[in-house]
Parts: sequence; C-alpha cells; structure tokens
Amino acid sequence: MKLYSTNDKNNIVDLKEAVLHSLPKDKGLYMPTAIKKLDDEFINNLHKYSFQEIAFKVAENLIGETIPKEDLKNIVEDSINFIAPVVTIEDKTHILELFHGPTLAFKDFGARFMARLMQYFLKDSNEKIKILVATSGDTGGAVAAGFYNIENIEVVILYPKGRVSKLQEKQLTTWGGNIKALEIDGNFDQCQALVKQAFLDPELNEKCNLSSANSINIARLIPQSFYYFEAYKQLTTDLPISFVVPSGNFGNMTAGLLAKKMGLPISKFIAATNKNDVFPKYLASGEYNPIQAYETLSNAMDIGNPSNFYRILDLYGSTWNNIKEEILGYSISDEETVETIVEVHNKLGYVLDPHTAVGYLGSKNYNHENEEKIILSTAHPIKFANEVADSINFSIPHPSSINTILKKEGHKTKLSSDFKALKDFILQ
Ligand SMILES: *Cc1c(COP(=O)(O)O)cnc(C)c1O
Repeated sequence: MKLYSTNDKNNIVDLKEAVLHSLPKDKGLYMPTAIKKLDDEFINNLHKYSFQEIAFKVAENLIGETIPKEDLKNIVEDSINFIAPVVTIEDKTHILELFHGPTLAFKDFGARFMARLMQYFLKDSNEKIKILVATSGDTGGAVAAGFYNIENIEVVILYPKGRVSKLQEKQLTTWGGNIKALEIDGNFDQCQALVKQAFLDPELNEKCNLSSANSINIARLIPQSFYYFEAYKQLTTDLPISFVVPSGNFGNMTAGLLAKKMGLPISKFIAATNKNDVFPKYLASGEYNPIQAYETLSNAMDIGNPSNFYRILDLYGSTWNNIKEEILGYSISDEETVETIVEVHNKLGYVLDPHTAVGYLGSKNYNHENEEKIILSTAHPIKFANEVADSINFSIPHPSSINTILKKEGHKTKLSSDFKALKDFILQ
C-alpha cells in the first residue's frame, strides 16, 4: 500500500511511514494511491462471511502485500473482536450499533486497529513513539484503552477542560503507565491546534518521535470502512441503502466513502452535524469556512474545522458538484436533539445517545421514502447520560462494564492552551 499527500501527489510514502508519522511534512493528509474495487463475487455474497472475514478481505484489498497475510489476519482478528449489529427501529430506519467495544464508542474500531498496526511496524525496530492525541471526548478513551501497555509507545492525551463527560474523563485519566492525560484550559479546536503545532515544531520532532492517533492518521480510517460492509450484509432489501453519519471530524464519513469506492453500492451519505455546520454549509454554497467550534450536547462532534474535509475533496477531485451529488448534510440543534431522544424513546422504545439522535433527525430531514436508511450509532447512550439527565424522564440502561471504571481514581495534568506549556511537558 502506498499513500500520497493531498497537498502533493508526488509525495509518496509506504504504509509504515504514514501510520507511524501520521502527517506529511507539507501539511496535507495521506490518501491511498489506489483504492481497488473488491470483486462482485464478494460484494454480492457478503452474507456468507463473518464480520472478521469481511474485515480481513477489506483490509487486504487496501493494504495488499505490505503486510503478510497471516500477520494482517492476526491484526484484524485481534482488533475487531466485538459485534456491530443492525437494529431496525422503524420502517426503513435502522441503527448500526458501533458501541459494543471496550469504551462503548465507535472509536474503539479505529484505535484498536491502529495500535496493533503500529505495534506490528515497531516490532523489528528500535524506534520508540510518542502519540499525541487531541480528543473531544471519545477518541482519547478509545486510544488509551487501545494502546495501554503497548510496548515502545507512550500516549499523551489532550482534552478540553469541562467539555467531556464524567465517564469519558475516567476513560482518559484512570490508566497510568504509558498513558498520560492533559486537561487543557481551552476548547477542542485549541487542543487540536496544539497537537498540529507540536507536529510542526522542529525541536520536538528532532528530540521525540511524534505521531498522532486522531483521524488524520490513515490507520483509523481503514477499520472504519469494515462496518459499512458488515451493516450492508445485515439488511435484506431490494431498495437502495443510504448511510447517515453523525459527523465531527468526518473520519467516519470518509471511511464510508472509501467503502463505496471499493464497490459497496451505497446510495447516498447523509452527514448529520450539530450546530457546527461548516460541512452542510459547504454543500449548500460550495464555500468552506471553518469556524470556532460551538459547545453542544453532542460534544464529540464540536468541531469547527473538520480535518478530513480535505480527504473528501481529494476523493472527488475537489469538485463541489460531485460531492453534493452523493452527500447531503443537515445541522441539528441541541433542542431538536433532546426532543428526538425523548420522542424515539417514547414511540419506539429505543434510547439514542445525543450523537445518534443527531443522525436520526438527519435521516428524517433526508426523508426518502424508497430507501433504507442505516444510521451509524457512534456511542452508547450511557456515555452521555449526565448531559441529558435533566431533559429526559426515563433511565438509561447501564452496562455493567462501566461500574469498575467509575470507581477508579483518575490522574491528570492541567495545562493552559499555550503551546510552550505543552512543549515543556513533552520534552520533560
Ligand atoms: C468522534 C465521534 C463522532 C464524530 O466522528 P468523526 O469521524 O470525527 O466525524 C461522532 N460521535 C461520537 C460519539 C464520537 O465519539
């Protein structure tokens, strides 16, 4: 597998370089030089394959000979060891539950796969890596869980003060060992900007081997394409199938676009955002205007400058007309989000988390009678129970796995949003 930079198609690297170092020096993003179509035999017979078998086929299609078959199989089977069921909640509306991993959010797919891929590439070298990751909530927890105790890798997590839930904070701060949690006095965009600045800092790069676990790293996107195939497999229908993706940094959406490029016959993508509506506005106007992120109930999507936007542009040859042909976008307010959670619970007996509720309402706005809509459910509702507690009058089912972590004591270091503070911390 070879990859180029979205800023320079002649800047080509192998997968190891892209995974271990995340970003090209020209500030672009890595994209595969070739995205091959899977054969029709496979696409038409998905029901014959288990989720792990599907994941391996898709991974092999993208990664090719770069990793020997047996090794890739182990990486895939080790990472994708939980289910992704499709639950039908009403006519032509289905929820793809991506929250059955260890931290109850879809980010477990990306983080587990990336950790094992990095471990594989570091195995025969003396290299040590420091991973910097900015999180709006779920990424950090999934990355901490995925990388805990992985040799030769230290993880530094930056999260915005007061903007992650209690459970999320526990999932960031209770590991110890090779996982360090930094509470930044700022918002998520500032955390992300700090991480970007660190990658461009010559002194830091000279002294430490820095990498990222945000969805700027291609290793996150590869496993996220697996479950589009798995979801498709689970629906038996003659109607076209569209996917609704609650979106923030648009990694999940980009992975879906890769799945489509590999031959999965997806009709449309519906990008559902909260108040941070940069992408729906782009679809409407053709103009991309990043903003300072607003704070919302669906805080993992509080992103004003989605980093995968340039990958989407790249996939469509930067042609707005082609993009808006295949992707629709809707922005949903917090009031609508809460109303939706209550309504869906009362009418359909299903509990949505705020991110999935944004997706559900996005599917209603799209309102295509003759299509099946699969909404990606990105988090278990318990992760955001505190945020919605005052607005709902029912209790959210409580998976037993979270009791242990809630009792643990967390450890964090508080830093300002000043780059020097971060730099000193990393160097020390
Ligand atoms: C990260 C996250 C999102 C947004 O995913 P992107 O790939 O950044 O668009 C949505 N919901 C939840 C719960 C998340 O953690």
